[in-house]
Amino acid sequence: MTNPASPQPATPRPPADDEVFNQPCPPGDIDLWAADIPLREATARHGGDAQTLAAYGASAGTARWREAAREANRQLPELHTHDRGGRRRDVVTFHPAYHDLLHLGLGAGYAGDAWTGGSHVTHAAMVYLHSQVEPGTCCPMTMTYAAVPALAANPALAAIWQPRLTARGYDPACVPITEKSAATLGMAMTEKQGGSDLRSNQTQALPDGEAFRLTGHKWFCSAPMSDGFLTLAQAPGGLTCFLVPRWLDGGANAIHLMRLKDKLGNRANASAEIEYHGAFAHRIGEEGDGVRTIIAMVHHTRLDTAMAPAGLMRAALAEAAWWCAGRSVFQRRLIDQPLMRRVLADLALDLEGAVALGFFAAATFDGTSDADRALARVVVALAKFLSNKRCPPVVYEAMETLGGMGYVEETPLPLLYREAPLNSIWEGSGNVICLDILRTLAKVPLADDALQAELQAATGADNRYDAALAAHRARWPGRPDEGDARWFADSAARLLAASLLIRNTPGAVADGWCASRLDAARGMVSGAISGLDEAALIARIGAP
Ligand SMILES: Cc1cc2nc3c(=O)[nH]c(=O)nc-3n(C[C@H](O)[C@H](O)[C@H](O)COP(=O)(O)OP(=O)(O)OC[C@H]3O[C@@H](n4cnc5c(N)ncnc54)[C@H](O)[C@@H]3O)c2cc1C
Repeated sequence: MTNPASPQPATPRPPADDEVFNQPCPPGDIDLWAADIPLREATARHGGDAQTLAAYGASAGTARWREAAREANRQLPELHTHDRGGRRRDVVTFHPAYHDLLHLGLGAGYAGDAWTGGSHVTHAAMVYLHSQVEPGTCCPMTMTYAAVPALAANPALAAIWQPRLTARGYDPACVPITEKSAATLGMAMTEKQGGSDLRSNQTQALPDGEAFRLTGHKWFCSAPMSDGFLTLAQAPGGLTCFLVPRWLDGGANAIHLMRLKDKLGNRANASAEIEYHGAFAHRIGEEGDGVRTIIAMVHHTRLDTAMAPAGLMRAALAEAAWWCAGRSVFQRRLIDQPLMRRVLADLALDLEGAVALGFFAAATFDGTSDADRALARVVVALAKFLSNKRCPPVVYEAMETLGGMGYVEETPLPLLYREAPLNSIWEGSGNVICLDILRTLAKVPLADDALQAELQAATGADNRYDAALAAHRARWPGRPDEGDARWFADSAARLLAASLLIRNTPGAVADGWCASRLDAARGMVSGAISGLDEAALIARIGAP
């Protein structure tokens, strides 16, 4: 019905959808290395391989790879339990882009280089870079990297597997390890009744000559097309670590893929429930030493789960900065709006802290002294805890800077948002990590001494830091109770990040961190803070 009082509309023009304005263009090729000041500084500070990383960052950030990542996440992995005749297949198929992304990362040395003359710092930087493009493929690459030190407990097996795990390349063929040029490894620890409490594992391991036969169920087993799985099972001598190959000379090992998890995060990678039906397994380490053996793997996956949230935050912030520079509201670019600048600067500080902690953790992995090794255990846990706790709110705030478009899957924000909580949950969920920090400090005095030395090294430069450190030490001259473990880890991680930033970054970063992360005078939400050097902090995100 028309309103007779209304003026006649002018002859309608069809909307010209090629005349778009005030919608920032897609960013195109992004040089993830050149655009990232904190990354380049941290790499230089800790002796990472800038040349390798520059090449990787320039390549992985191109529109081609980011489109491949989108493709890999659009098509869900498919489980094929049986062939048409009812024979078991136990195969998962992926979008071809998933395999291409594994070629990219493994071919550049993501999993292997740290063990063949490269450094853990360079590895950590690759985790950071690859997480920005496609976090799902990081999972199999990280587990492959991390499995190498655990395998050392069985030198004969390591002689066969390690050269293939550390090869610069990806070989997805479903054939026994000896026929492969490169290999990947996964891990199968978690069972239905408990993941944190590994000693409750029920999978049984019965001796079979030199080897063992495993029977049981594993509740989470990611990257089920890996060439083998490091597994915990109860042998006659107690909980023991095993390598269960997926393929044997005679065909598939007795590993049944039961179903794939319908999970929150990335869609490119698969996580399965599996069953061992008398699966052939090699023992790694002594019987009864399972937790101690596999902890070598867990320790290294923790480094990656400390670094990945920094990558996710970086990807979200870079997108936010790009958007805010190209979008205007009320006649002013978003990036010039005082309130938006406050939000972006505050988020940038979270990223600075995560980069500082993650790279420092990686550097302790490269260290060779007893103090380095002791410090690595506690620093990696502090970094994993704080960076992962900050990741979801940072990604969410970055999403909001794009307004409605941040909610649209054509931008990277929805994937980053779904992925943001993951690295906190696996490989030691928040509480487990905090309790582990207390245990390490109590059991390894050298770790406590080394941490105290790192905290002490920054004193005298900032009154707020000195006061916060004194308050921390006054509250805990000794060992905190379990119930205080989160408070302790949060406080220690913020202080360690402050110490690193004070000693290593420009004044605006250290000053902003001390003002906003050590003083109690701030609100609960990002941007509820004043006195930041916004121009300096935003410039470090690489805003155009
Ligand atoms: C996407 C995805 C992929 C995964 N891939 C793998 C894989 O490949 N292989 C594998 O083995 N596992 C994998 N996991 C499993 C993961 O490692 C476990 O979910 C995790 O270790 C927690 O174990 P749980 O789920 O049994 O929780 P629980 O152990 O039951 O813990 C539940 C909660 O209790 C807390 N908690 C535990 N102990 C204490 C305590 N003493 N005091 C206070 N709080 C405590 C934990 O922090 C956690 O918040 C994956 C998980 C996810 C989500």
